[in-house]
Amino acid sequence: MHDSHNSTAARLFETEGTGNPLDVLKRVYGYSAFRGKQQDVVEHVVAGGDAVVLFPTGAGKSLCFQVPALCRNGVGIVVSPLIALMRDQVEALKQLGVRAAALNSSLTRDEAIAVRHSLAAGALDLLYVTPERAVTDAFADMVADTDIALFAIDEAHCVSQWGHDFRPEYRGLGCLASRFPGVPRIALTATADPHTRDDIIKRLGLDRARVFTTSFDRPNIAYEIVERDQPRQQLLRFLSRFKDASGIVYCLSRAKVDDTAEWLNTQGIRALPYHAGMDRALRDAHQDAFLKEERLCLVATVAFGMGIDKPDVRYVAHLDLPGSVEAYYQETGRAGRDGLPSEVWMAYGMADVIQRRRMIDEGGSPEEIKRIERGKLNTLLAICETAGCRRQAILAHFGEAHPGRCGHCDTCLKPVETWDGTEAAIKALAAVYRTGERFGAGHVIDVLMGTINEKTERFGHVDMPVFGAGKDLPPRTWQSVFRQLLAAGLIKVDHSAFGALQLEPEARSVFRRERQVLFRKDRPSSGKAARGTKSATARERSDLAGSDLELFEKLRSQRLAIARDMDVPPYVVFPDTTLIALAKQRPRGFEDLLDVPGIGESKREKYGEAFLAVIDAFEEGGG
Ligand code: ADP
Ligand code: ZN
Repeated sequence: MHDSHNSTAARLFETEGTGNPLDVLKRVYGYSAFRGKQQDVVEHVVAGGDAVVLFPTGAGKSLCFQVPALCRNGVGIVVSPLIALMRDQVEALKQLGVRAAALNSSLTRDEAIAVRHSLAAGALDLLYVTPERAVTDAFADMVADTDIALFAIDEAHCVSQWGHDFRPEYRGLGCLASRFPGVPRIALTATADPHTRDDIIKRLGLDRARVFTTSFDRPNIAYEIVERDQPRQQLLRFLSRFKDASGIVYCLSRAKVDDTAEWLNTQGIRALPYHAGMDRALRDAHQDAFLKEERLCLVATVAFGMGIDKPDVRYVAHLDLPGSVEAYYQETGRAGRDGLPSEVWMAYGMADVIQRRRMIDEGGSPEEIKRIERGKLNTLLAICETAGCRRQAILAHFGEAHPGRCGHCDTCLKPVETWDGTEAAIKALAAVYRTGERFGAGHVIDVLMGTINEKTERFGHVDMPVFGAGKDLPPRTWQSVFRQLLAAGLIKVDHSAFGALQLEPEARSVFRRERQVLFRKDRPSSGKAARGTKSATARERSDLAGSDLELFEKLRSQRLAIARDMDVPPYVVFPDTTLIALAKQRPRGFEDLLDVPGIGESKREKYGEAFLAVIDAFEEGGG
């Protein structure tokens, strides 16, 4: 297999060293144009420049280092954080006829020797290594006599302690600059906050690199955030929109991951758990199933996701609030890498706010970091509680203005009403204050509602003026009021006092009526999703219809059969975008195949006949 593959590659890269980027893009990847700023990056790196690439997920970062590596002399060395994923990336490249390999501890001795030989023989276009390995003397010795086209540092935000994926080994990568002077380095990440960016530049010695940024908007992702009410039923309703697709459900704790996955299976949804507490082999097996199966719900902690480049993740659901907008955006960003319509959904409630605040307060960080963490959490809460466009609010956080409302987040689709809650806020704050700032929301709401029970009697709260002062609103609304007061920083939760609510200094301005308080109206508890419960498939939403859709399904079965046979994820054979184009364009001859996006020379040779046969049979059958 290796030989035939090498000969294809040799033919593809006869022009190595003098490769023209557009030519490589067409022949190898089957794409006729670069996207956005890809071309600028590619030209800069081909010419030997260093680059920092800050593009959102799905923008096409991989091509930014792969194409220059193919155009320049020598091997491109890619530093990538996760061994489990190198295999898939290497496999995808091999499918394209690129001579790629990974060198890591999962290889057998013989495999490792074979990779070294290929490297020494100049027979590799791309070599994937872990950061730990890239900084060793042994590695420097190994490549001492090799032409190196470039170093690509993927997931470069791992270098930063500000991020949530900090990997100390990344810090060492700064040494590449001095060890390999003259070799261009390109760092890539989808995390763009200024802190992380500065860390990447400083820690990796990239001060002379050109920084490439692009809009962080992900127009194909629809955002929805709902108030948690009956989380399981709400989740089920959300998942019912994706009968034929795969996605991720994030939970905060391992136990919740296990429970949720188990429960989803009883509801007829194939789900597998993934978290760091699982046996490694099982965890890897579940990840593998997620990549290879077409309809699987992976229930996971945030331990899952980094470096997963499955392009057809159609949804991401959060059952718990993430810790920051950055984390939320990164996790939701795993949906829709292929640019096709995808949905992300989060259910959150007051308990999340309390839990997240506790995690910060009780965490080991110094006070100065805690303050930053609290600030980050508050920003996310503001996005949860906004009555405006979610996308606008998110992008504003990343310093980007979005012109007008986006039109396909929940608040745009179904505008949220607000109400002047100044009077309600005053009552709520007064109830907290009068009862001594010693009680949680449940009890304070009992007081406001005038509920006579053991606790309200024992503490003498039944005799207070605030007792029953809130009867004009239902308890559900009071819960919403307290959640929003918390989100607005007017009250806080004292964890050392069993979750007692306490007033923040800011509350004073509300008492004095110096500040108007606007609350968003929660949606009725029927929990009807913003865009209804339609279960349009991703395919329908990407405007495939009628016989095109039928043909698509046939092409999809063919793809699955080939993928199973080769034991690779289906998207490694062709992404959905290519199948959709095949179904619409219906090429009949071998020549026409190269006009289909995603079909380059190598894939045409490998799969062209098989897919043409499906199209022929379909057309003859009168489809
Ligand atoms: P990122 O690493 O930025 O998340 P990827 O490199 O995985 O993005 O690319 C996302 C998807 O877009 C892939 O399926 C890739 O093949 C596709 N893609 C990238 N560049 C182009 C292009 N110029 N034309 C068409 N498709 C592209
Ligand atoms: Zn919107």
